[in-house]
Amino acid sequence: MLHIRCTKCGNKAIYYRVYSGEKLCNACFCSSVMEKVKRTIAKFNLLKYGDRIGVAVSGGKDSLSLLKILNEICKPHASKLYAITIDEGIFGYREEAIGICKKFIKEINVPHYVFSFRKLYGFGLDDVIKLRKSKISACSICGILRRRALDIAAKELDVNVIATAHNLDDIIQTFMINILNGDTDRIRWLDPEIKPRSAFIIRRVKPLMEIYEKEIAMYAFLNNIPFQTVTCPYMNEGIRSEIRFIINALEDKHPGVKYNILNTAIKISQGLFMEERVLMVCKLCNFPSSSELCSVCKILETIKGNIIYKNH
Ligand code: SF4
Ligand code: ZN
Repeated sequence: MLHIRCTKCGNKAIYYRVYSGEKLCNACFCSSVMEKVKRTIAKFNLLKYGDRIGVAVSGGKDSLSLLKILNEICKPHASKLYAITIDEGIFGYREEAIGICKKFIKEINVPHYVFSFRKLYGFGLDDVIKLRKSKISACSICGILRRRALDIAAKELDVNVIATAHNLDDIIQTFMINILNGDTDRIRWLDPEIKPRSAFIIRRVKPLMEIYEKEIAMYAFLNNIPFQTVTCPYMNEGIRSEIRFIINALEDKHPGVKYNILNTAIKISQGLFMEERVLMVCKLCNFPSSSELCSVCKILETIKGNIIYKNH
Protein backbone atom coordinates (compact mmCIF):
# COMPACT_ATOMS: atom_id res chain seq x y z
CA MET A 1 0.00 0.00 0.00
CA LEU A 2 1.27 3.43 -0.92
CA HIS A 3 1.86 5.81 2.02
CA ILE A 4 1.69 9.57 1.93
CA ARG A 5 5.21 10.78 2.69
CA CYS A 6 6.31 13.36 5.26
CA THR A 7 7.28 16.59 3.48
CA LYS A 8 10.33 16.94 5.75
CA CYS A 9 11.84 13.44 6.03
CA GLY A 10 9.98 11.11 3.68
CA ASN A 11 8.65 8.80 6.41
CA LYS A 12 4.99 7.89 6.59
CA ALA A 13 2.94 11.07 7.14
CA ILE A 14 0.24 11.06 9.81
CA TYR A 15 -0.83 14.71 9.76
CA TYR A 16 -1.78 17.13 7.02
CA ARG A 17 -1.28 20.78 8.01
CA VAL A 18 -3.84 22.33 5.71
CA TYR A 19 -2.80 25.99 6.05
CA SER A 20 0.83 25.30 5.08
CA GLY A 21 0.35 22.28 2.82
CA GLU A 22 2.87 20.23 4.87
CA LYS A 23 2.38 16.52 5.43
CA LEU A 24 4.18 15.40 8.55
CA CYS A 25 5.22 12.16 10.22
CA ASN A 26 4.86 11.68 13.99
CA ALA A 27 8.43 12.84 14.82
CA CYS A 28 8.44 15.84 12.44
CA PHE A 29 5.00 16.95 13.64
CA CYS A 30 6.09 16.88 17.31
CA SER A 31 9.36 18.65 16.64
CA SER A 32 7.54 21.29 14.54
CA VAL A 33 5.26 22.06 17.52
CA MET A 34 8.30 22.32 19.79
CA GLU A 35 10.12 24.60 17.32
CA LYS A 36 7.06 26.81 16.96
CA VAL A 37 6.84 27.26 20.72
CA LYS A 38 10.57 28.12 20.87
CA ARG A 39 10.08 30.69 18.08
CA THR A 40 7.11 32.26 19.90
CA ILE A 41 9.15 32.52 23.12
CA ALA A 42 12.04 34.19 21.28
CA LYS A 43 9.87 36.46 19.10
CA PHE A 44 8.00 38.00 22.04
CA ASN A 45 10.74 37.66 24.70
CA LEU A 46 8.42 35.55 26.82
CA LEU A 47 11.05 33.84 28.96
CA LYS A 48 14.66 34.43 29.85
CA TYR A 49 17.59 32.51 31.24
CA GLY A 50 17.15 31.59 34.90
CA ASP A 51 13.43 32.42 35.14
CA ARG A 52 11.42 30.79 37.90
CA ILE A 53 8.37 29.76 35.93
CA GLY A 54 5.01 28.79 37.41
CA VAL A 55 3.09 26.74 34.88
CA ALA A 56 -0.68 26.80 35.39
CA VAL A 57 -1.74 23.18 34.92
CA SER A 58 -5.43 22.33 34.88
CA GLY A 59 -5.23 18.71 33.75
CA GLY A 60 -6.41 19.42 30.20
CA LYS A 61 -4.44 18.53 27.08
CA ASP A 62 -3.13 22.07 26.59
CA SER A 63 -1.67 22.65 30.02
CA LEU A 64 -0.09 19.19 30.37
CA SER A 65 1.41 19.54 26.88
CA LEU A 66 2.71 23.01 27.79
CA LEU A 67 4.35 21.62 30.92
CA LYS A 68 6.02 18.82 28.97
CA ILE A 69 7.23 21.21 26.25
CA LEU A 70 8.56 23.81 28.72
CA ASN A 71 10.22 21.10 30.77
CA GLU A 72 12.17 20.07 27.68
CA ILE A 73 12.89 23.60 26.45
CA CYS A 74 13.79 25.17 29.79
CA LYS A 75 15.92 22.52 31.47
CA PRO A 76 19.08 23.45 29.55
CA HIS A 77 18.52 27.14 30.38
CA ALA A 78 18.76 26.88 34.16
CA SER A 79 15.14 27.90 34.52
CA LYS A 80 13.08 26.32 37.25
CA LEU A 81 9.56 25.05 36.66
CA TYR A 82 6.73 24.74 39.17
CA ALA A 83 3.41 23.21 38.19
CA ILE A 84 0.50 25.04 39.81
CA THR A 85 -3.02 23.61 39.83
CA ILE A 86 -5.95 25.69 40.99
CA ASP A 87 -8.82 23.67 42.44
CA GLU A 88 -11.87 25.87 41.82
CA GLY A 89 -14.23 23.54 43.67
CA ILE A 90 -16.30 22.24 40.75
CA PHE A 91 -17.92 19.03 41.89
CA GLY A 92 -17.41 15.99 39.63
CA TYR A 93 -14.95 17.85 37.39
CA ARG A 94 -11.83 19.08 39.10
CA GLU A 95 -11.24 15.86 41.07
CA GLU A 96 -10.52 13.87 37.90
CA ALA A 97 -8.22 16.61 36.60
CA ILE A 98 -6.18 16.81 39.78
CA GLY A 99 -5.67 13.04 39.76
CA ILE A 100 -4.41 13.18 36.15
CA CYS A 101 -2.13 16.13 36.92
CA LYS A 102 -0.57 14.51 39.97
CA LYS A 103 0.29 11.31 38.14
CA PHE A 104 1.69 12.93 34.98
CA ILE A 105 3.62 15.69 36.75
CA LYS A 106 5.26 13.17 39.06
CA GLU A 107 6.36 11.14 36.02
CA ILE A 108 8.14 14.12 34.45
CA ASN A 109 9.57 15.10 37.82
CA VAL A 110 8.36 18.68 38.22
CA PRO A 111 7.34 20.05 41.64
CA HIS A 112 3.56 20.36 41.85
CA TYR A 113 1.40 22.55 44.11
CA VAL A 114 -2.39 22.64 44.39
CA PHE A 115 -4.15 25.80 45.65
CA SER A 116 -7.90 25.69 46.23
CA PHE A 117 -10.53 28.44 46.08
CA ARG A 118 -11.98 26.99 49.25
CA LYS A 119 -8.74 27.46 51.15
CA LEU A 120 -7.96 30.86 49.66
CA TYR A 121 -11.45 32.37 49.70
CA GLY A 122 -13.58 30.13 51.92
CA PHE A 123 -15.84 29.17 48.96
CA GLY A 124 -15.69 26.77 46.04
CA LEU A 125 -16.92 27.91 42.61
CA ASP A 126 -20.07 25.77 42.98
CA ASP A 127 -21.06 27.73 46.11
CA VAL A 128 -20.44 31.04 44.37
CA ILE A 129 -22.55 30.04 41.37
CA LYS A 130 -25.43 28.84 43.56
CA LEU A 131 -25.57 32.24 45.25
CA ARG A 132 -25.01 34.26 42.08
CA LYS A 133 -27.85 36.65 41.38
CA SER A 134 -26.59 38.55 38.36
CA LYS A 135 -25.90 37.59 34.77
CA ILE A 136 -22.12 37.47 35.19
CA SER A 137 -21.05 34.14 33.68
CA ALA A 138 -19.51 31.35 35.70
CA CYS A 139 -16.38 31.60 33.55
CA SER A 140 -16.00 35.33 34.29
CA ILE A 141 -16.24 34.70 38.04
CA CYS A 142 -13.95 31.69 37.74
CA GLY A 143 -11.43 33.70 35.68
CA ILE A 144 -11.30 36.59 38.17
CA LEU A 145 -10.84 34.28 41.17
CA ARG A 146 -8.34 32.05 39.36
CA ARG A 147 -6.15 34.95 38.25
CA ARG A 148 -5.87 36.06 41.86
CA ALA A 149 -5.26 32.50 43.04
CA LEU A 150 -2.38 32.23 40.56
CA ASP A 151 -0.89 35.51 41.78
CA ILE A 152 -1.02 34.28 45.37
CA ALA A 153 0.50 30.93 44.38
CA ALA A 154 3.26 32.67 42.43
CA LYS A 155 4.14 34.87 45.40
CA GLU A 156 4.24 31.87 47.73
CA LEU A 157 6.46 29.91 45.38
CA ASP A 158 8.56 32.97 44.50
CA VAL A 159 8.10 32.55 40.76
CA ASN A 160 8.68 35.58 38.53
CA VAL A 161 6.56 34.55 35.55
CA ILE A 162 3.40 32.48 35.08
CA ALA A 163 2.96 30.48 31.88
CA THR A 164 -0.60 29.62 30.88
CA ALA A 165 -1.65 27.20 28.15
CA HIS A 166 -3.88 29.53 26.11
CA ASN A 167 -3.62 28.41 22.51
CA LEU A 168 -4.22 30.26 19.26
CA ASP A 169 -7.93 29.40 19.26
CA ASP A 170 -8.40 30.64 22.85
CA ILE A 171 -6.69 33.94 22.07
CA ILE A 172 -8.61 34.77 18.92
CA GLN A 173 -11.90 33.80 20.61
CA THR A 174 -11.05 36.20 23.44
CA PHE A 175 -10.21 38.88 20.87
CA MET A 176 -13.58 38.43 19.14
CA ILE A 177 -15.45 38.44 22.48
CA ASN A 178 -13.72 41.70 23.41
CA ILE A 179 -14.64 43.21 20.05
CA LEU A 180 -18.28 42.22 20.57
CA ASN A 181 -18.18 43.69 24.09
CA GLY A 182 -16.39 46.85 22.92
CA ASP A 183 -13.77 46.18 25.57
CA THR A 184 -10.59 47.79 24.22
CA ASP A 185 -8.76 47.57 27.54
CA ARG A 186 -8.91 43.81 27.35
CA ILE A 187 -7.78 43.85 23.72
CA ARG A 188 -4.74 45.84 24.88
CA TRP A 189 -4.00 43.02 27.35
CA LEU A 190 -3.62 40.58 24.46
CA ASP A 191 -0.22 42.13 23.66
CA PRO A 192 2.20 39.26 24.40
CA GLU A 193 4.88 41.73 25.49
CA ILE A 194 2.78 43.83 27.83
CA LYS A 195 4.19 44.37 31.32
CA PRO A 196 2.01 44.01 34.45
CA ARG A 197 0.67 47.26 35.88
CA SER A 198 1.84 46.55 39.39
CA ALA A 199 4.61 44.66 41.15
CA PHE A 200 1.84 42.71 42.90
CA ILE A 201 0.79 41.11 39.65
CA ILE A 202 3.07 38.46 38.18
CA ARG A 203 3.84 38.64 34.45
CA ARG A 204 1.79 36.19 32.36
CA VAL A 205 3.05 34.51 29.19
CA LYS A 206 1.29 32.24 26.72
CA PRO A 207 3.90 30.11 24.93
CA LEU A 208 1.22 28.13 22.99
CA MET A 209 -0.36 31.27 21.56
CA GLU A 210 0.66 30.37 17.99
CA ILE A 211 -0.43 26.72 18.10
CA TYR A 212 -3.85 25.59 16.90
CA GLU A 213 -5.94 23.82 19.53
CA LYS A 214 -6.28 20.74 17.34
CA GLU A 215 -2.48 20.54 16.93
CA ILE A 216 -2.05 20.53 20.70
CA ALA A 217 -4.63 17.75 20.95
CA MET A 218 -2.64 15.85 18.32
CA TYR A 219 0.63 16.52 20.17
CA ALA A 220 -0.90 15.27 23.43
CA PHE A 221 -2.23 12.15 21.72
CA LEU A 222 1.09 11.33 20.00
CA ASN A 223 3.01 11.81 23.26
CA ASN A 224 0.60 9.73 25.34
CA ILE A 225 -0.19 12.69 27.53
CA PRO A 226 -3.28 11.77 29.53
CA PHE A 227 -6.04 14.32 29.61
CA GLN A 228 -9.37 14.93 31.18
CA THR A 229 -12.48 13.53 29.56
CA VAL A 230 -15.13 15.22 31.72
CA THR A 231 -16.04 18.76 30.64
CA CYS A 232 -16.72 21.61 33.02
CA PRO A 233 -20.46 21.85 33.76
CA TYR A 234 -20.31 25.65 33.29
CA MET A 235 -18.52 25.55 29.95
CA ASN A 236 -21.35 26.55 27.64
CA GLU A 237 -22.65 29.51 29.55
CA GLY A 238 -20.86 32.22 27.64
CA ILE A 239 -20.73 33.40 24.04
CA ARG A 240 -17.33 31.69 23.54
CA SER A 241 -18.80 28.41 22.24
CA GLU A 242 -20.70 30.26 19.50
CA ILE A 243 -17.61 32.19 18.49
CA ARG A 244 -15.54 29.00 18.45
CA PHE A 245 -18.05 27.43 16.10
CA ILE A 246 -18.04 30.42 13.71
CA ILE A 247 -14.24 30.72 13.59
CA ASN A 248 -13.81 26.97 13.03
CA ALA A 249 -16.24 27.13 10.11
CA LEU A 250 -14.27 30.04 8.64
CA GLU A 251 -10.96 28.18 9.04
CA ASP A 252 -12.41 25.12 7.25
CA LYS A 253 -13.29 27.26 4.27
CA HIS A 254 -10.23 29.53 4.40
CA PRO A 255 -7.26 27.67 5.92
CA GLY A 256 -4.92 30.05 7.73
CA VAL A 257 -7.59 32.59 8.65
CA LYS A 258 -6.97 31.91 12.35
CA TYR A 259 -3.36 33.09 11.99
CA ASN A 260 -4.58 36.23 10.24
CA ILE A 261 -6.95 36.97 13.11
CA LEU A 262 -4.16 36.36 15.64
CA ASN A 263 -1.77 38.70 13.83
CA THR A 264 -4.48 41.35 13.64
CA ALA A 265 -5.22 40.93 17.36
CA ILE A 266 -1.54 41.36 18.25
CA LYS A 267 -1.07 44.42 16.00
CA ILE A 268 -4.19 46.09 17.35
CA SER A 269 -3.27 45.27 20.95
CA GLN A 270 0.19 46.77 20.49
CA GLY A 271 -1.14 49.88 18.76
CA LEU A 272 -3.83 50.64 21.33
CA PHE A 273 -3.32 53.34 23.84
CA MET A 274 -4.32 52.38 27.33
CA GLU A 275 -5.12 55.20 29.64
CA GLU A 276 -2.67 55.22 32.55
CA ARG A 277 -5.01 54.75 35.48
CA VAL A 278 -3.62 55.28 38.91
CA LEU A 279 -4.11 51.97 40.65
CA MET A 280 -5.48 52.14 44.14
CA VAL A 281 -5.11 49.48 46.75
CA CYS A 282 -8.22 47.43 47.52
CA LYS A 283 -9.34 48.36 51.00
CA LEU A 284 -10.03 44.74 51.92
CA CYS A 285 -7.22 42.70 50.44
CA ASN A 286 -4.51 45.27 49.61
CA PHE A 287 -4.15 44.03 46.04
CA PRO A 288 -4.00 46.70 43.32
CA SER A 289 -7.41 47.73 42.08
CA SER A 290 -9.01 50.35 39.87
CA SER A 291 -11.70 51.03 42.46
CA GLU A 292 -12.09 50.90 46.25
CA LEU A 293 -12.88 47.19 46.15
CA CYS A 294 -11.10 44.90 43.71
CA SER A 295 -13.13 42.54 41.53
CA VAL A 296 -12.22 39.53 43.71
CA CYS A 297 -13.43 41.22 46.91
CA LYS A 298 -16.60 42.39 45.15
CA ILE A 299 -17.44 38.77 44.34
CA LEU A 300 -16.52 37.51 47.80
CA GLU A 301 -18.40 40.25 49.64
CA THR A 302 -21.43 39.56 47.49
CA ILE A 303 -21.34 35.89 48.34
CA LYS A 304 -20.71 36.45 52.03
CA GLY A 305 -23.59 38.87 52.28
CA ASN A 306 -25.55 37.07 49.57
CA ILE A 307 -26.38 40.44 48.06
CA ILE A 308 -26.88 41.16 44.38
CA TYR A 309 -23.61 41.61 42.54
CA LYS A 310 -24.41 44.52 40.26
CA ASN A 311 -21.03 45.59 39.05
CA HIS A 312 -20.55 43.73 35.81
FE1 SF4 B 1 -13.87 27.90 35.09
FE2 SF4 B 1 -15.40 28.30 32.91
FE3 SF4 B 1 -13.15 26.89 32.71
FE4 SF4 B 1 -15.26 25.89 34.02
S1 SF4 B 1 -15.13 26.37 31.82
S2 SF4 B 1 -13.12 25.84 34.71
S3 SF4 B 1 -16.10 27.74 34.95
S4 SF4 B 1 -13.32 29.08 33.24
ZN1 ZN C 1 -9.67 43.14 47.23
